[in-house]
Amino acid sequence: MDYDRNKALLLELQRAAGTGNDRCADCGEPGPEWASCKLGIFICLTCSGIHRNLPEISRVKSLRLDFWESSLIEFMRNHGNLWAKAKYEAKVPPYYYIPKSRDCMVLREQWIRAKYERGEFLDTRVCQDPCSAGSREGCLWKLGKVRRQFQKRQFVLSAREGVMKYYSKEVEKIGHSHGLQITYITDGQIRNLFVYHESGKEIVDWFNAIRAARYHYLRITFPNVPEPELIPRITRSFVKEGYMEKTGPKQKEAFKVRWFCLDSQERKLIYFKNPLDAFAQGQVYIGRRDEGYEVRGDLPQKVCVKKKKPVITLVTPVREFVFICENDRKQKEWMDALNGVITQL
Ligand code: ZN
Repeated sequence: MDYDRNKALLLELQRAAGTGNDRCADCGEPGPEWASCKLGIFICLTCSGIHRNLPEISRVKSLRLDFWESSLIEFMRNHGNLWAKAKYEAKVPPYYYIPKSRDCMVLREQWIRAKYERGEFLDTRVCQDPCSAGSREGCLWKLGKVRRQFQKRQFVLSAREGVMKYYSKEVEKIGHSHGLQITYITDGQIRNLFVYHESGKEIVDWFNAIRAARYHYLRITFPNVPEPELIPRITRSFVKEGYMEKTGPKQKEAFKVRWFCLDSQERKLIYFKNPLDAFAQGQVYIGRRDEGYEVRGDLPQKVCVKKKKPVITLVTPVREFVFICENDRKQKEWMDALNGVITQL
């Protein structure tokens, strides 16, 4: 009897307005079906997997499959996601990247560990100023530009000087580790830097230190821009990445496979020969519909493609770009993403 009654009470509590329990406490995924009965929070399946590895601080239970004692339900009622957010996220620095449900595991795991295990954002913590947070020194594995292998390098990040330096030191091959892609512009060219570290904490700390340095730079450069407008500019946000095939400007050239990244903020479709390339091969600016930009799921007249695969034509005022997608699903995803940029103001 209690079993069913308690389950109903618990699910009611998960849906209760004003508790924040209807979204995962750690990644925001709607409809969490799991909970940490030690922390008093409702979480999604993926985050529950991370909590399971932290028995010192968390204890995972399924809302639907496990038995819940009345006292535990009372505990959940007295705590919950909003309560936990106020406690464990009291002092999250503005530049700190809070992962969402589509983000990779290393970011999510370190966010959960930083909150509950290390208590990095508790109210009692003294906030680091972004300038000192944006300075860091250490070893990372860097992917060589010419010889395509990872080499151990000493990196120095200085927010005060606004630079990221690395030094050639040891040369070793890479084993299993966590990666970070840094995309930046140097002399008008887009450059990718790929770095790795064996420890997930180390790579996420680097990631946030780079964000802190960039935040510090933006604060000084644009002192009058309000913070909510500054934060999205901290890192490039690629709304879509993946392979497509493209032809040349005459549209008669052979199609070549390229790696594409769509940057909605800068309104650019950037392409690389390989996903890990340091420099981009080219980029296409994507304007608004009323400026003559359009996406179509068919070919321009006079262009024919031998392969029976879905295509995309990106119409710009200067030329039409033709892309071949791997399958119908990819074609739809790319068209939706491109249309999203074209319709955005
Ligand atoms: Zn989650």
